[in-house]
Amino acid sequence: MVLANFDENLKKYARLIAKVGVNAQSHHIVCLNVQIDQAKLAHLIVEELYALGVAEVLLNWKDDQVDLARYLYADDKRLVTVPDSYVQRLKESVDLKISQISITSGDPNVFKSVDSERTAKRLVAFKAASSDYSAAIMANKMSWTVAAAASYGWAAKVFPALPTNKEQLDALWDQIFKTTYVYAEDPVKAWQEHNDKLQKQAQKLNAAQFDALHYIAPGVDLTIGLPKNHYWAGAGDTNAQGEFFMANMPTEEVFTAPDRNRVDGYISSTKPLSYAGSIISGMKFTFKDGKVVDFSAEQSQEVMEKLMDTDEGARYLGEVALVPDPSPISQSGIIFFNTLFDENASNHLALGQAYASSVVGGEKMSKDELKARGLNRSDIHVDFMVGSNQMNIEGIQKDGIRTPIFRSGNWA
Ligand code: ZN
Ligand code: ZN
Repeated sequence: MVLANFDENLKKYARLIAKVGVNAQSHHIVCLNVQIDQAKLAHLIVEELYALGVAEVLLNWKDDQVDLARYLYADDKRLVTVPDSYVQRLKESVDLKISQISITSGDPNVFKSVDSERTAKRLVAFKAASSDYSAAIMANKMSWTVAAAASYGWAAKVFPALPTNKEQLDALWDQIFKTTYVYAEDPVKAWQEHNDKLQKQAQKLNAAQFDALHYIAPGVDLTIGLPKNHYWAGAGDTNAQGEFFMANMPTEEVFTAPDRNRVDGYISSTKPLSYAGSIISGMKFTFKDGKVVDFSAEQSQEVMEKLMDTDEGARYLGEVALVPDPSPISQSGIIFFNTLFDENASNHLALGQAYASSVVGGEKMSKDELKARGLNRSDIHVDFMVGSNQMNIEGIQKDGIRTPIFRSGNWA
């Protein structure tokens, strides 16, 4: 296929990211985190941001090929050296509440030739150095959004059967445009309607205030306790200044935090996970009192194990998210090997840090207060997909009364 009106649609997409995603305001400084091979989209986003009247746009160009060369050849000590400039940039982002746009576009398996010991070491060092920044993002101190852009490497992984890399690229852009309402007559309005739908679903769950959720499916029997006053949200949220933003584009989920100490049973992943340039698949987790006590994976087990050794919280859950199997991304039947897409096609859980907003008033709580409320603290947050059309989920009230929430992968 060849995409019609690509330039026009790319411009619409850039506008959506600036206006709906990060919802840029005139006093905002905005940082755009993007790979260098996405310069065309980056330029369009920058133009839209300035047209919206923002104070300043900062560019953080990324390049997987540079990182790959470093992983392959840098000596061990350099690999874990975090430059002062990196620490300063993140500190400034927090101090000045710089809005963040992140464009995900990389080849999901770009670091497959690298020893996973080396990627893990560097990630641990950089995650630790960006701890305050991650916590600020996850407490919505500033607006932030994650959106995608198609690249040849990623498109080849998603559409290997298409004959040319141009066709692969177009097919992936087509999916990105479809799932973010770029083709809608009024994309901004389509997003408002979509957000309203998700908020309604979240409100129902907030009103129910279940004490726990019970997941049942083939390879799954897991009970997840929920904290008192937990809060279900859609990706549309407000920052500490009361400004609305859309954290993910696309998005189909409503999510909250589990009680980090009340997760028991076992669960299997249903889609592969691309993490740190490696693909991890066929994962099985066993939890006891919230902690992962047993784990296996068919592919890249060592990558996931190293990830869970990052810190104390890395073996506990920080997010529980519900996505009906009939979601448009799931129905496409495509495995994207990219969490932004795959997590929005499937019920998912995340290991590591919980969003502070997942308990009422959490954005203003300290790290210790959040932990006391059952919200997990960690330098990582990694989602993995567990949903299928065979999954049933029940909500359990404190008195033991059960209410079906999901039947055969859809809202009951
Ligand atoms: Zn999620
Ligand atoms: Zn997540």
